[in-house]
Amino acid sequence: SVSPAPRRLSILGATGSIGLNTLDLVAAEPGRFAIETLTAGRNARQLAELAIRFSARVAVVADAAAYAELRDRLAGTGIEAAAGAEAVADAAARPTDIVVSAIVGFAGLAPSLAALGATPVLALANKETLVSAGPLFLAAAQRAGTRILPVDSEHNAIFQVFEAGNADTVSEVIVTASGGPFLRTPKSELAAVTRDMALRHPKWRMGPKITIDSATLMNKGLELIEAYRLYPVSVDQLSVLVHPQSVVHGLVRYRDGSLLAELGVPDMRTPIGYCLAWPERRPTTVKPLDLSAIGSLTFEAPDRDRFPCLPLAEAAMRRGDGAPCVLNAANEVAVEAFLAGQIGFLDIARVVEATLGKIDGEGGLSEPDSLAAATELDGRARKIASACL
Ligand code: NAD
Ligand code: MG
Repeated sequence: SVSPAPRRLSILGATGSIGLNTLDLVAAEPGRFAIETLTAGRNARQLAELAIRFSARVAVVADAAAYAELRDRLAGTGIEAAAGAEAVADAAARPTDIVVSAIVGFAGLAPSLAALGATPVLALANKETLVSAGPLFLAAAQRAGTRILPVDSEHNAIFQVFEAGNADTVSEVIVTASGGPFLRTPKSELAAVTRDMALRHPKWRMGPKITIDSATLMNKGLELIEAYRLYPVSVDQLSVLVHPQSVVHGLVRYRDGSLLAELGVPDMRTPIGYCLAWPERRPTTVKPLDLSAIGSLTFEAPDRDRFPCLPLAEAAMRRGDGAPCVLNAANEVAVEAFLAGQIGFLDIARVVEATLGKIDGEGGLSEPDSLAAATELDGRARKIASACL
């Protein structure tokens, strides 16, 4: 039989945890994908290696200072090299069949927006885009006719069990949480936890920013907002369930009493593979879930007292307008400062709360309706957050 033409694939954030998991799936199916664009933040060496190994057409590094290294490493390969934030967005706008958006943070918004219209399918890992600018991003996707598929494991699970035709009979959407490395840490010990302790996630190996977010439970707060953007539910229909085994990734409850869930081993190649194959299902190399080996699955309510980032995010979701964008920006500043050893673990929630409080005093927190408005609000929140460190 004749094999189909390869599908063109672009990966924004190719050198990160999601990007490398995506390339792992690509490598497992030779000939199925043709890599169009790979981008990275600043690691020109790793980006060049990946671009050569996967025969990309274009490689772009966001850090303009890394251009010479990228160009030199790609000299003679025929792979186009470029650098700078604008070049990342330009590369994202090159026509392709699927884009995986896996840049971390607000920096992923502009390239994700640029990709709309240039691709029929955008697999979105970059949750900060939906938190900071969800309504404008989803409206732009709709106008462009680009289908957004959620890569985030919880949202991917929910996507698989949310029956679009029965949306009016859904009563609850539940995102599960591993609980992170401090699930059992007493409140009195949280102030002293170190960067290294927070970076040791029990279930998932991910980039540093989301790993810290998982330790504070801000990740679950961001994911509630992400689910609120993606699914037609009210804030009261969204909930978080702590599930330390990370086997059940998300659930949808129907009014008839059915509770549908997606289960799998905690491996991002399952949701990424789902997005790459959608609307088909294709085999991956992920090992099958052995429920009898696991034996029992446990569930408990999250502790909002020990993990104040979760109620802060819930309040921002209820408040709406620009509040989630401010929450996200302040959190990015605080997490960066925590990773740099400038503030303690509990200061992350303090900085986020203080920023939301201060920006209120300035009046006006409307929902960003353009990239420029989102960038302005994000920048304003970052300034305030930096002053609160
Ligand atoms: P990561 O830190 O491992 O990788 C981030 C990627 O973005 C890298 O390629 C990096 O070079 C690039 N990058 C960083 N700053 C940039 C900038 N300013 N401009 C352009 N590129 C930049 O992060 P990750 O864990 O792969 O997470 C990526 C996104 O996916 C995040 O939004 C995260 O919340 C989401 N996500 C990740 C996982 C996971 O398992 N890692 C799971 C669910 C969702
Ligand atoms: Mg997740």
